[in-house]
Amino acid sequence: MLNIAIDGYVGSGKSTLANEIAKKLNLKMLDTGAIYRSIACEYRSRYDLLLSADNVEDLVKNMTIEVTFKGREQHVLINGKDYFGQIREEEISILTSQIAPYISVREKVLSVQRAFAKQYDCVMEGRDIGTIVLPKADFKFFLTGSEQTRAKRRYDQIKDKQTVSFEQILKDLQARDYNDTHRKIAPLVPAKDSIIIDTTFLTLEETVNKCIDIIKTKNT
Ligand code: C5P
Repeated sequence: MLNIAIDGYVGSGKSTLANEIAKKLNLKMLDTGAIYRSIACEYRSRYDLLLSADNVEDLVKNMTIEVTFKGREQHVLINGKDYFGQIREEEISILTSQIAPYISVREKVLSVQRAFAKQYDCVMEGRDIGTIVLPKADFKFFLTGSEQTRAKRRYDQIKDKQTVSFEQILKDLQARDYNDTHRKIAPLVPAKDSIIIDTTFLTLEETVNKCIDIIKTKNT
């Protein structure tokens, strides 16, 4: 099996990079953030946005997670429900980073991720793939970038679909970075053997080429 782990900060270009590598090398891609986001959507539909540990535990108890694909488009079913149209909403981004630290949530998602990597040659992107989920991945990339650049990317992605200001996006990004890096379980940190790439001044193409070169060099 070929497993490639891509971790990094919000807006550092993980998803786009993972997609491009998957296309170029004909691998499956798993967007693990979309799984956590779908769980947050299920939480919101049951309990609204107010976070409580009891509600999280109640939600997770009998929760089922299924990942399916329509062509290359990933869909996640939580208890059979597909929240595809809602997962990128800004309030879901924040709620997700509040729910993701719960160990019960992470354990459920962990088993789905590991099963996927066993079944497919894949690129998996998230926050703890190289450290916790696939510590033996063949390649590990960790993407960073300045806050301003990352917030601008995120803003450009959603500005036509949602009414939200750049300042709000920047504030949310800082809050999510804080939640992701400060949680006790599976915090966002580079694995010791990961290749760290600062994407602030790199185009997508440059980032993709850099990673593909590394993969091809080591795989030949
Ligand atoms: O990557 P994305 O922005 O879609 O992830 C949404 C949130 O899901 C992150 O801010 C993080 O809190 C959580 N997440 C995580 N572990 C992962 C992937 C995402 O905790 N492997």
